[in-house]
Amino acid sequence: MADTSGQKKTVDAVVVGAGFAGLYMLYRLRGLGFTARVFEAGKGVGGTWYWNRYPGARCDVESMDYSYSFSDELQQEWRWTERYSAQPEILKYINHVADRFDLRRDITFSTRVTAAVFDEDDDRWDIRTDTGEQVSARFCIMATGCLSTAQVPDFKGRESFEGKWYHTGHWPHEGVDFTGQRVGVIGTGSSAIQSIPIIAGQAAHLYVFQRTPNFSVPAHNAPLDPDYERSVKANYTEFRRQARESRIGFVVERNDKSALEVSPEERLSEYEKRWNRGGLGFAATYTDLQTSKAANDTAAEYFRAKIRSLVRDPAIGEALVPRHYPLGTKRLCVDTGYYETFNRDNVTLIDIKKSPIEEITPHGLKTRDAAFTLDSIVFATGFDAMTGALMSIDLRGRGGETIQQKWAEGPRTYLGLAIAGFPNLFAITGPGSPSVLSNMIVSIEQHVDWIVDCMTYIKEGGFAAIEATAQAQDMWVEHVNDVGHMTLYPQANSWYMGANIPGKPRIFMPYIGGVGAYRQKCDEVAAKGYEGFSLR
Ligand code: NAP
Repeated sequence: MADTSGQKKTVDAVVVGAGFAGLYMLYRLRGLGFTARVFEAGKGVGGTWYWNRYPGARCDVESMDYSYSFSDELQQEWRWTERYSAQPEILKYINHVADRFDLRRDITFSTRVTAAVFDEDDDRWDIRTDTGEQVSARFCIMATGCLSTAQVPDFKGRESFEGKWYHTGHWPHEGVDFTGQRVGVIGTGSSAIQSIPIIAGQAAHLYVFQRTPNFSVPAHNAPLDPDYERSVKANYTEFRRQARESRIGFVVERNDKSALEVSPEERLSEYEKRWNRGGLGFAATYTDLQTSKAANDTAAEYFRAKIRSLVRDPAIGEALVPRHYPLGTKRLCVDTGYYETFNRDNVTLIDIKKSPIEEITPHGLKTRDAAFTLDSIVFATGFDAMTGALMSIDLRGRGGETIQQKWAEGPRTYLGLAIAGFPNLFAITGPGSPSVLSNMIVSIEQHVDWIVDCMTYIKEGGFAAIEATAQAQDMWVEHVNDVGHMTLYPQANSWYMGANIPGKPRIFMPYIGGVGAYRQKCDEVAAKGYEGFSLR
């Protein structure tokens, strides 16, 4: 690396972000002899798990699945303590990985990439940061995460609030003690559903402001069964292979039957079995839950009955029951005692669909029908998902065209990892790839491996640049859309559809064709000399 002080530094690759994606990217680049520089806005590694420290933050994918597979020593030596890992343990793991593979020396922390501009004269990216650094890189790799741009709604009067406010995705590192406080949580997505039971245990009173009720399945979290751990570790290679070839990046018990071809008794017993087992596997109970409204209704009705049975006050139970979208088309939540929390005397549910929040006041908030005095407000209001991080960078490709122009009508990628007009730039788990519909680590490893193979091909072939063709991208976008529209997903106002951000185009952003099938497609593209890309 030419690193002349005071002058622009040059590297083979700049990687933006030091979460699971950025760290593995750095590891692979180094191993292949590419020079690399990683920029990370946080003070430490971990991405999602660095920022999302809210009470109860935990992964919905089981620990033995939600971990890197690239090093057998690592996966054999690391010991998870629970079936589903909590945020502190995952952060500890990712810090261990950074140390074990000596990754930190190429990472610049507390530094945000503000601009990446492609210079057509020398086929390089000019990357600038908020600390004034400038680096020239042959490749620019966006490891910026899918759920990293926190969204705090622009409520009237927000700045006037005199108490403390937090967003789940930017939680204070020292933690927050709500003891004795009147706390308002706005939102009832995965982050809220995990944190509400814990905040309720601390606060004097908790007010939950719910716009849309969610479907949530119990986690049934427990200490990791040592026999299970031993059996997975004895067979990790095969376990990982199956995950890579699966639909969602981890193996769940799948049923090839339609929910409509079995008797109501059989269905009930199957749903009951899955509910008692806990976790996201519920969505695989029948093969048509995501494609047939009638099939989906059977599962949704099962959930509604469960919710009613868990909540003592029938009116509150009804208010918690989701009705207007199919189960699973907003991300299925996984909880520990969420519905039961509404049986507590110190918890009040407020339906802000019926009575919307009108303004935040210095001492709380006002809905159309009532005023609430609050010491703290927790915005569990989600993220500008999948596109937010990239769109917040001054990212300019060929001809100076910006990503904001290119994606004005919604994200367009080839395979969810390359963008026409942006040569030598890759997005790890970008829109148009399985990403958020999968075990992120499996999808990250697949993208990173594909990208480094591609970079090696370019280097060894003496090419200057690789770029997705507009035609291949158009076909991929159409395919992603077609497959998405074969499912019930577009029926929900979800962040998958961009519906949580006012003005964001409504496009089903992830690819739902399945992790295994998608991997095969990517491998075929590479085997055909990077079909759909132009190489110069
Ligand atoms: P989310 O699912 O987008 O939920 C945001 C919540 O805030 C929704 O209830 C939403 O209501 C509400 N909201 C947003 N804007 C609002 C407004 N202006 N007024 C009132 N309510 C508003 O966000 P999240 O809970 O942070 O989860 C995001 C994703 O991160 C999850 O779906 C999941 O993929 C991932 N995640 C995973 C885990 C895990 O693995 N355990 C945990 C947390 C998050 P509407 O539904 O009406 O929009």
